[in-house]
Amino acid sequence: MFDKILIANRGEIALRVIRACREMGIASVAVHSTADSDAMHVRMADESVCIGPAPSAASYLSMPAIISACEITGAQAIHPGYGFLSENAQFVQMLEDHGITFIGPRAEHIRIMGDKITAKDTMKALGVPCVPGSAGGVDDVETAKTVAAEIGYPVIIKATAGGGGRGMKVALDENGLEVAFRTARAEAKAAFGNPDVYIEKYLQKPRHIEVQVFGDGKGRAVHLGERDCSLQRRHQKVLEEAPGPVITPEQRDEIGRICAEAVARIEYAGAGTIEFLFEDGEFYFIEMNTRLQVEHPVTEAIFGVDLVRQQILVAAGEEMEFEQDRLSIRGHAIEVRINAEKVPGFSPCPGRISQYHAPGGLGVRVDSALYDGYSIPPYYDSLIGKLIVHGRDRREALARLDRALGELIVDGVDTTVPLFSALLAEPDIQTGNYSIHWLERWLEQKFG
Ligand code: ADP
Repeated sequence: MFDKILIANRGEIALRVIRACREMGIASVAVHSTADSDAMHVRMADESVCIGPAPSAASYLSMPAIISACEITGAQAIHPGYGFLSENAQFVQMLEDHGITFIGPRAEHIRIMGDKITAKDTMKALGVPCVPGSAGGVDDVETAKTVAAEIGYPVIIKATAGGGGRGMKVALDENGLEVAFRTARAEAKAAFGNPDVYIEKYLQKPRHIEVQVFGDGKGRAVHLGERDCSLQRRHQKVLEEAPGPVITPEQRDEIGRICAEAVARIEYAGAGTIEFLFEDGEFYFIEMNTRLQVEHPVTEAIFGVDLVRQQILVAAGEEMEFEQDRLSIRGHAIEVRINAEKVPGFSPCPGRISQYHAPGGLGVRVDSALYDGYSIPPYYDSLIGKLIVHGRDRREALARLDRALGELIVDGVDTTVPLFSALLAEPDIQTGNYSIHWLERWLEQKFG
């Protein structure tokens, strides 16, 4: 087992990893930019190293700075968290060259899943159901028209290098196709330096269902059910729950088995998430994330497991503690993302937290790097915390969420907390009757 792990991240996810390390008796190293000298992850880790100035490109994304920090502190492994370098195959390769263990899958798997066309081809070949669409990339408008006519409108044009919901354009009919195609390519080029796009049937009212998988890197893998992340704004998740309110045990077992077999066959190592759109009882693969997800705690809650601990075990060459037939679901969990943002525009609201009080009690978990007097820097993601509740069933989880939101105090900046209180009053949220478009429509009705 490792003696010391460096966490190449910040905020709540850095704390999450530090906590797992501490429980396993492993020393932790925090890295930070000059803007984060007072951050909670720096305070909580056993050691810390400043790796550069505020902009992420010069600090949290600087591979040489992070590798030097490892060498200076003698950390043997790096946990990347999510975002930043977590899905960067080149980084994984560099670590290997320096004899540092990456806590995550092999570079090869990150590369395959990082390119959406290759990911889709791979998954299809492994027997995973995919959204009908073009076979590979589409380079010109004429081909795009032919493909769209075959699969039927509406269609969505997506960047193969895409992420974070960027580089996606919907075309309702042939008239709209040319503009959508050109805009998607231009956006993809600007955002990812790669203009390649592909076409998929645009599903009208799907839910976003993702399956948590975990592999030992040697051909054994399990699934830990699904999460429903349909409440989204601009393709960004806002609230997640597990199990999915509309997924039957048979559907769960079936899609879970398909996913676990797929990752077992490629000898995938560590945590992964296979994302699907779900409509009329059918699953359609959209992408795989080769890292820990923001919303992993809802899965941890219902299965009673520590996913980060398992990631560390597998990376250290030890056996994962998962066996499929011993994994069973208990109750229902919901997570809400607390962002320093002003609703309804969701513009970031960095600033000083004048007062912070976290809720507690039975079935309540708060993953946050906030503290009284903390100043949220303007340089990074606006996620400042996650509130996760667990109940015996969905009803109890909802009531607990309402209660916990009532106890939570985050003063000094605008946050998404009032949004969740308002959402809880909605009958559709109470019954779980929502698709990926529900939230945007609701926001529009409510705020115009
Ligand atoms: P990203 O990597 O940018 O997040 P995804 O492929 O995961 O891109 O898609 C993000 C979101 O875009 C999905 O959760 C869904 O809301 C929407 N989306 C993607 N593909 C389709 C599709 N074929 N039909 C309808 N909506 C889609």
